[in-house]
Amino acid sequence: MSPRLPDGPFVVAIDGPAGSGKSTLARKVAEAIDGVVIDTGAMYRAVTAALLDQGFDPADPHAAATVAEGLLLRFEPGEEGQRLMVNGEDWSKRIRLPRVAAAVSTVAAHPAVRARMVALQRDMGREGRVVMEGRDIGSNV
Ligand code: C5P
Repeated sequence: MSPRLPDGPFVVAIDGPAGSGKSTLARKVAEAIDGVVIDTGAMYRAVTAALLDQGFDPADPHAAATVAEGLLLRFEPGEEGQRLMVNGEDWSKRIRLPRVAAAVSTVAAHPAVRARMVALQRDMGREGRVVMEGRDIGSNV
C-alpha cells in the first residue's frame, strides 16, 4: 500500500554530511513522490563559481553577498537528474570544477550568502513537492 501524500506543496528534508548518500536517496524519493530535488550544495557552488568568474576573492564577504543577490537560480529536470540553471544557463558541470570545490566552504561561511540561499530554498519549498538535501535543511531551512 502506498502512503497517502499531502495534496499541497511539501518538503522532504534530507540532511547529512558529505558522502552519506544524500543525493542518491534524494533522487529516489523525488521519483517516488513525483517531486523535484533541490541540491542546496549546488546553490553554494553556483555562488562560488560566479565569484571566481568575476575575479573576486572568495573570502570577501561584500563581494560574496552582492554576487549571491544577483543570481537567478532554478532547478530543472535534465537527462542526468536535475540541472542547475543560473541566469538561464546550465551550470551543472561548471559547479563541479575543482577550483569551485576548493573555495565553496569559504563562500558558504558568509552569513549574507547563507541568508540569501536559505530564503531561496524556502521559496522553492513552497512551490510543490520538493526533496531538499543539504546539511542544514531539517534544522534551519
Ligand atoms: O554537497 P556539496 O558538496 O555540493 O556542498 C558543497 C559545499 O556547500 C559544502 O562543502 C558546504 O561548504 C556548503 N553547503 C552548506 N550548506 C548546505 C549545503 C552545502 O554550507 N546546505
